[in-house]
Amino acid sequence: MPAKSDIAGNEFQRIRLEFPEVAMELLFLGTGTSCGVPQIGCDCEVCTSSDPRDKRLRSGAVVRGGGVSIIVDTPPEFRLACLKYNVARADAVFITHAHMDHIAGFDDIRRFNTLNGDHPIPCYAAEETIADLHRIFPYITSKPNTEGLYRPQIEFTPVAGAVRVGGIEVTAVPVVHGPRTNGYVFECDGRRMAYIPDCREIPDASLEKLHDLDVLVLDCLRGDEPRIHPTHMTLSLSLAAAEKIGAKRTYFTHACHRVLHRDFEKLLPQGVALAYDGLIV
Ligand SMILES: [Zn+2]
Ligand SMILES: [Zn+2]
Ligand SMILES: [Zn+2]
Repeated sequence: MPAKSDIAGNEFQRIRLEFPEVAMELLFLGTGTSCGVPQIGCDCEVCTSSDPRDKRLRSGAVVRGGGVSIIVDTPPEFRLACLKYNVARADAVFITHAHMDHIAGFDDIRRFNTLNGDHPIPCYAAEETIADLHRIFPYITSKPNTEGLYRPQIEFTPVAGAVRVGGIEVTAVPVVHGPRTNGYVFECDGRRMAYIPDCREIPDASLEKLHDLDVLVLDCLRGDEPRIHPTHMTLSLSLAAAEKIGAKRTYFTHACHRVLHRDFEKLLPQGVALAYDGLIV
């Protein structure tokens, strides 16, 4: 089994984790808002819909390409989504922000430590987000497990600009949401994708980083009714941002139970679509 170097220069063995070199792609592990869809105890049209696209796990993604597999956020159903979509490899983890719907599954990274031969996995996030992760998961460390202990081994690294993971360059894109929140741009072999699941506003300095995108994934909680949301983009804001950014394809994510996939897509212009769990772009 050939050894490969990660960006920190660590050598790790690949254990049944090889996958063919493909153009960089993004797999949606989940596309739902913080409650998920269906939400508990709701019998609305969307929560009871038989359309599989109306079943939304909490939001997360995997970006694959350039010889690596990158996890973006570890939502509460992270393990279930990895099983459902055959995600068996993590070369790095990027966290957008420390809201529970994006980090509650963080402990399950430990399984990827086992799969990579018990080596620490780099985790990138804004400095404030890393401080929150340490506070919420104080037992997580980069040290090897001792007998009877099975915890994730993580190398936390604050990211403000660009870092390289294998053949993918990842650039942090700070956005306004509530807590300190990053979107990320992934670039590999000239293909550029941005993932921004939780966002109310994109500052001008961040908009500049969102140029020449093949794919933009953007927050769109629901339509604008009953009110514009204080921390998430709703349809008019999402559409305005998508138009300004001008990606070749835009996918909206982080939708709530007011979004019936079939009807909502009819509100979207050409080049814009609503993502669903399991979609690969
Ligand atoms: Zn969220
Ligand atoms: Zn509902
Ligand atoms: Zn959030």
